[in-house]
Amino acid sequence: MTRTLIRGGLVVTASDELHADVLVEDGRIAALAARGSDTAAGWTADRVLDATDRYVLPGGVDAHTHMELPFGGTFASDTFETGTRAAAWGGTTTIVDFAVQSVGRSLREGLDTWYAKADGNCAVDYAFHMIMSDVNEATLREMPKLVEEGITSFKLFMAYPGVFYSDDGQILRAMQVAGGTGGLIMMHAENGIAIDVLVEQALARGETDPRFHGEVRKALLEAEATHRAIQLSRVAGSPLYVVHVSAEEALAELAAARDLGLPVFGETCPQYLFLSTDNLAEPDFEGSKYVCSTPLRPKEHQAALWRGLRTNDLQVVSTDHCPFCFTGQKELGRGDFSKIPNGLPGVENRMDLLHQAVVDGHISRRRWIEIACATPARMFGLYPQKGTIAPGADADVVIYDPHATQVLSAETHHMNVDYSAYEGKTVTGQVETVLSRGEVVIDGRKYTGRAGHGTFVPRATCQYLS
Ligand SMILES: [Zn+2]
Repeated sequence: MTRTLIRGGLVVTASDELHADVLVEDGRIAALAARGSDTAAGWTADRVLDATDRYVLPGGVDAHTHMELPFGGTFASDTFETGTRAAAWGGTTTIVDFAVQSVGRSLREGLDTWYAKADGNCAVDYAFHMIMSDVNEATLREMPKLVEEGITSFKLFMAYPGVFYSDDGQILRAMQVAGGTGGLIMMHAENGIAIDVLVEQALARGETDPRFHGEVRKALLEAEATHRAIQLSRVAGSPLYVVHVSAEEALAELAAARDLGLPVFGETCPQYLFLSTDNLAEPDFEGSKYVCSTPLRPKEHQAALWRGLRTNDLQVVSTDHCPFCFTGQKELGRGDFSKIPNGLPGVENRMDLLHQAVVDGHISRRRWIEIACATPARMFGLYPQKGTIAPGADADVVIYDPHATQVLSAETHHMNVDYSAYEGKTVTGQVETVLSRGEVVIDGRKYTGRAGHGTFVPRATCQYLS
């Protein structure tokens, strides 16, 4: 039996902040005891980690990543190996990535492909959602089997016609099945049919720069799709989780639905909280670094998103980590913004950026842990194994220095991508040491983990529905 003692820190979870020592035994949290108590004094351990003046946090749960995603004729530049290592560096110990069904193929085939990509390569634990690109009789029949296997959420797209797009009838049918099996439908809510018309018109006018990506993907078309997804889910009697909410108008649709008591949930991402259309407008094609969908919005939307996170109209902050290098990948869209691969790197930055939001006064310390660890774990059936520090939970623990300052940069990050979306930004707070199921994977800012330590985690159904 291996025992590790984390001594002297402030344990912060979604519900509590307490000065406590944490005992880890064989990969799990064994006990917490008040600092200096007789109980803590009696603990012996193989290893003692000093957390004096540090926070002791549950490892981050990033419920939205795309390692190695094929997109626009290329692949996201982080593999499961490099991407999960970067996640560990950033204090995230669980990712939920997206297995992709190809059009004309089964869900099973897509899922098996993604199991093979991840198996033996991950530094931290991982789970999968299933992207349904082709909703039909056969794939609808497969959904309950996946739920039994621990793949309990299904992502549909109202955007990207001809690629991932589902029409309203397909969406309704998938929602009906999900509603009956406890599965959760995740929605990319943008009216892709209308957007494609605006893309074509913009290109015909010679509007080819990255900033036009943001202009054609109208906030109203995000709001419209969000509204439609909500109504379809009501008709089907299924819950709904809207991914990467970026527009104030879309958030208003979610808030209205939640005011009616509907099981409707929303996620946003750090890029929508910290970046804006100003970045998309950067000259010399630099704006391409910020092309993602839904797009970055004018700065004014940020205040609404922060408010939504405080009022719980938004429940989760994930990254939608989907990195493409500037050189050779983003550049595919020079002269045509519609050919820029959509996606931003961020899996390593999320915990730090949200701590900066604590420092800036946008959210409280406990809310930071709630939106980054506990709620994503509950939303996707991983709690309390993941997302908290409590006896019996996996010992996924971050020792965090809240006073350190760091400058985010591609020079120092560990993601396999040649730029940082936050280049030069100074943030307060830094991950110091990380445990994944009791194993130290980051030790005082040194990587001590290994590919293959991370294992697949089958998930229960959404824990907000029972
Ligand atoms: Zn995504």
